[in-house]
Amino acid sequence: MKLHSLIILFLLISQSVPSRDFTDVELKTVHVHGNIYMLEGIHGFAGGNIGVSIGDDDILIVDDQFSEMNEKIRAALAKLKPGQPRFVLNTHWHGDHTGGNINFNTHATIIAHDNVRKRLMEEQSNMFATTPARPKEAWPVITFDESLTIYFNGETIKVLHFPNGHTDGDSVIYFVESNVVHMGDHYFAGMFPFVDIDSGGNVLSFADNIKKIIDSVPDDVRIIPGHGPLSNKEELISYYKMLQDSIQIVQQNVNQGMTLEQLLENGLPDDLKSWETGFIKADKWLTFIYQSL
Ligand SMILES: [Zn+2]
Repeated sequence: MKLHSLIILFLLISQSVPSRDFTDVELKTVHVHGNIYMLEGIHGFAGGNIGVSIGDDDILIVDDQFSEMNEKIRAALAKLKPGQPRFVLNTHWHGDHTGGNINFNTHATIIAHDNVRKRLMEEQSNMFATTPARPKEAWPVITFDESLTIYFNGETIKVLHFPNGHTDGDSVIYFVESNVVHMGDHYFAGMFPFVDIDSGGNVLSFADNIKKIIDSVPDDVRIIPGHGPLSNKEELISYYKMLQDSIQIVQQNVNQGMTLEQLLENGLPDDLKSWETGFIKADKWLTFIYQSL
């Protein structure tokens, strides 16, 4: 992996970096459908996409970026509705999705899978960084093991846990009436995904989860990815095909006795290599799959 990719990845995952510069990061507000919006970080060290439900009841957000983005997030929300979020849902524990918890906890109830709370309460180490335990203010106060439903803003909001995908605490959020899904980091739109093996992630169950999500949504669903632009079912299906094809190549080669070094040397065919548009390049992607078998 090239040095700059490593640095970006480190910054995306770690909360322990003292001098990140968010000056250039902009939050673009995208109207998704009905009363659902997406705040997409563009330029610089943009964190995960924020999903927003606006309505008579109040504001609910899915993920809250880095804590340093607080003012920008509040400014973007204020243009949609005055006031503060009443609920924050965390799709998983990574700092680019939960960093803002400490800013919103005074007004909002923070909700996440059991393992998000566990991981935020303790120091976490993965292949790129060691992240210290978060203060109590950042911990979800309501957790669940499999699923949870919130009735808010005239909407049925289903929060479903998918096991051992990107981490061991991932949730996918279905805004049923608006026909919108926030997928957290199970979906890096148009890119190879980061799979955090050290946090209980696994590429094989990750791909199984994607298949289940595809089968569970209508054809015209709007999809908010964890990273990347607003997407749809057709693009998610081609992402799933990329996952399957990559896994098949690694599986076949490993069955024939190939080592990780040989796998990396062989690389991926061009049609798959074209997914190298994010911070996970082919080498890293092949390594995640190899480690998941
Ligand atoms: Zn993540």
